[in-house]
Amino acid sequence: MTGLPFDPLHPPAEPPPGCPMPTLWRIAYALHQLHRADGNRCACGARHPCTHRRAALRALVEACGVRLPVPRADIFDLWHGILLVSPPIRPHDPNR
Ligand SMILES: [Zn+2]
Repeated sequence: MTGLPFDPLHPPAEPPPGCPMPTLWRIAYALHQLHRADGNRCACGARHPCTHRRAALRALVEACGVRLPVPRADIFDLWHGILLVSPPIRPHDPNR
């Protein structure tokens, strides 16, 4: 991939300057970090890069405003992965 505002092999923890969706970046980054390579296996035990890692990378790209054609399976894996990541920001409830 070219023209990305970050190195896809080593994305930074903080969103790149001008990133339009920094919250999505941070959630996707946390997921990306959970699914590190351990030899030719992912930390989750699947073959590396696993579906969660690939979905997280797609989300990092999308967070930068770059539209990608995303297969349905990847969207499912992304949301499944996000549910496994502790949210970095708790939603504000104005009724409390
Ligand atoms: Zn994994």
